[in-house]
Amino acid sequence: MVYRKTKIEGWFELQRTVCPICGKTGGCMIHKDGNKIACIRERSDIQFGKNSCQSWLHHLKDGVKVNVSDKVATTKSRKKFPVHLLHGFFSKLVNDSTTLLTTPHIHHLNGERQLSDNTIAKRQYRSFPQQPWVTAKNVLGKFEERLSDQNLTVGIPGFYMNNYGWTINGQSGILIPYRNEYNFITGFQIRVDEVKNFVETDQINYPNLKAYVKQQPNHVQIQVNGQKYWEGVLELGKRKTIADENGEILGTVKLAKGQRYYWLSSPNKKYGTVAGDPVPIHVAIPSKQLEEWNKTLEADLKNPDTDSYTTLRKAKSVWITEGALKADIAIDHIVEAFADTIDEVGDTMIAAPGINSWRSLLPMLKNMGVKRVNLAFDMDAIENEHVNQYFHDMVKELKSQGYEVYVAAWSLKNGKGIDDILLNGYTPQLRKL
Ligand SMILES: [Zn+2]
Repeated sequence: MVYRKTKIEGWFELQRTVCPICGKTGGCMIHKDGNKIACIRERSDIQFGKNSCQSWLHHLKDGVKVNVSDKVATTKSRKKFPVHLLHGFFSKLVNDSTTLLTTPHIHHLNGERQLSDNTIAKRQYRSFPQQPWVTAKNVLGKFEERLSDQNLTVGIPGFYMNNYGWTINGQSGILIPYRNEYNFITGFQIRVDEVKNFVETDQINYPNLKAYVKQQPNHVQIQVNGQKYWEGVLELGKRKTIADENGEILGTVKLAKGQRYYWLSSPNKKYGTVAGDPVPIHVAIPSKQLEEWNKTLEADLKNPDTDSYTTLRKAKSVWITEGALKADIAIDHIVEAFADTIDEVGDTMIAAPGINSWRSLLPMLKNMGVKRVNLAFDMDAIENEHVNQYFHDMVKELKSQGYEVYVAAWSLKNGKGIDDILLNGYTPQLRKL
């Protein structure tokens, strides 16, 4: 599927096809009339979607035809339940025997991530179930019937109904819980076991050429006007122009690496629900403090009189990075590496869903009473031109709102992410901006 419905009426995200403005894949949107692009990488004078994901409006001079299938245009995805109700379902999911971590997943967390069994248990990492329909039945229990009401507009990300009943969308991998500032589990990312390659095409300029990976990792079939045109092995990451015998260009293809992390999500499926809107943000605290936080939450949830939760994590200083697993690992090492100055630098790490959606963090920072932020994004990401623009925008806005802004810096040769350098025994330098 090339066009993915977004929450903005009439706008579709370009998937697996290059954006005509920035030439990159993923995140940019096209209007159904085919005359406007909202690009997340190339700037213009008109800012678009200011509140969540940052993008800029561009006009397509000649316009293109956008073929949105009826299925995509009409399937209405549900919105998420309110967070306290979602937490109820997701707690059942992590406590269900069908999601216990498999041995290979434990090995990954023990080995590469250097997490102890004790920490793994506290963080409640799980494995995507082998029989998701069994898990769905266990989690939904008596709510199964109510959730099957076709007029219901809210649901649980990942859950949907197929011909046999309720099940969960996803593939084999580690489930990583996202906890908000109240310790509610508001979503999961799946770290998939197998990263699948896919073929990028240019549907905007060459809608007749389609291509797919026939066999992983690199055996590709190219079709023109629905007919097989070429089949063979493509080199990863190299864009290739396809032309016919007269030299007329039929389109371009590029074999690209798939993602390692996906949201647990079930949009465009029967009674399915999007993971975002708003996108989950993870609050990582040291694993030693997590047990206490869980106990407070349990007590809060048992008390029917409370409408304000005492579990709100207040923090004068927070760290900000991308990715929950990274944040979980890093914060446990930060409390050791910065033991002498921990009150100053803070023992809370917020995992943003992506550096371009930094604005979604602002309400949380306010709610938590934050005064200082330490930005700890991957070093190679900061060096990327487009990401660097977001970074500068974020710093500017945070400063203008009165936050003290520090950047955590390290040498790329000592590690890519904040978790890597800490695991490798290095301490990042904090520089005030
Ligand atoms: Zn773009």
